[in-house]
Amino acid sequence: MSADCLFCKIAAKKIPSKIVYEDDEVFAFEDIGPQAPTHILICPRKHLDSLNELNLLAGYRTVLNNGEGAGQSVFHLHLHLLGGRAFRWPPG
Ligand code: AMP
Ligand code: ZN
Repeated sequence: MSADCLFCKIAAKKIPSKIVYEDDEVFAFEDIGPQAPTHILICPRKHLDSLNELNLLAGYRTVLNNGEGAGQSVFHLHLHLLGGRAFRWPPG
């Protein structure tokens, strides 16, 4: 747990959220500002700022926001799951 991290506080239920799934490793909850009819955030319980901490030197491909330049605003690694509407490519 990182003391100042919003999502660590959500995992510990110190901040209310609509949790839709949790186990020993991950938790998932509804995004407070949904960008699609379904917008779930899926996070590891272990605090990692982003995928950059995994040091995947051989390269990696994701649809996660990694870093401020990509729009990441909460620095606890999380996967966005969006659904229920049509999507365009490439994303903005
Ligand atoms: P990102 O910008 O990729 O770091 O995503 C962070 C997401 O966290 C945004 O989509 C926010 O709407 C969402 N968010 C921020 N605060 C909360 C909260 N208290 N409960 C649920 N989702 C949140
Ligand atoms: Zn955290």
